Amino acid sequence: MSSTERLKRQQMESDALIGQLLRSREVWKNELQKLDEVKCSLPNLVAGMQALLAGLLPTGHTGKCQETLKVKVVEVYSVCNVDVWQKYKTRRDSIKRRFCSQSVIKSPEDSRLRANPRLHSLEALLQQAGSSHIFQESCNEVLLLHGTSAESAQAIALHGFHGRLAKQSGLYGKGVYLTTDACKALSYSNRPPECATAGWFVVTRALPGYPHFTDTHRQGQKRPPFRTLPNGQQELYDSIVAAPGIIYSKAAVARQVHWEYVVSDWQAYPEYLVKFQRL
Ligand SMILES: [Zn+2]
Repeated sequence: MSSTERLKRQQMESDALIGQLLRSREVWKNELQKLDEVKCSLPNLVAGMQALLAGLLPTGHTGKCQETLKVKVVEVYSVCNVDVWQKYKTRRDSIKRRFCSQSVIKSPEDSRLRANPRLHSLEALLQQAGSSHIFQESCNEVLLLHGTSAESAQAIALHGFHGRLAKQSGLYGKGVYLTTDACKALSYSNRPPECATAGWFVVTRALPGYPHFTDTHRQGQKRPPFRTLPNGQQELYDSIVAAPGIIYSKAAVARQVHWEYVVSDWQAYPEYLVKFQRL
């Protein structure tokens, strides 16, 4: 066997092995029994996550946003929680069925959603790092960041974003707050008692679905607004998106700087927990 043939064969064997590993990593999502541990350490993703954070700092963000560059990723865990996954998947199936029946896939909101350049960075990096996750673009499924404390990260791994963890009184109403911008996620992890030295990001699979792009704040709102379907019926939007540039307070002329997404509890699944230290 020539050296070229031997190399080719080795490559094929390693490809097959990687394929097996990837399938086994995701197989729990189709099982109904619980795993003993909902967290699984993935040291091979640490370097990739580190590179990703720098890429998720928007150009031109200075001051506190630059603290993103002083963050060192120390651990990455995959979250394998069958109960939480099943609830998320039920919600995803429901949005998917509705999208199919209404033919809303090419809505103007879709192109506005995809206009955020960092929306694709998380997915691309995870694929490079060997992730086999498949995202359903047909119902606008995306990966986003959620910054939080150690205590909340553990609770999210165990129970998802359900209940007390959803922000009750945020600027854009009630829901789980997510972002593509590492600096914004970092600002949410600034919580005592450990904030001086460490923090957590939750890399979250989320369903903005048919989003409402707000042009003002929505403080005190418990759900997204209604929209009118072509047949005249009313239906709630699936999420709220606050894009950079909107003026959320006319009184103080305060402008939104980061991309923020607000979804309901079961429209978010915590794929990875990322522990970081501040240098
Ligand atoms: Zn920023």
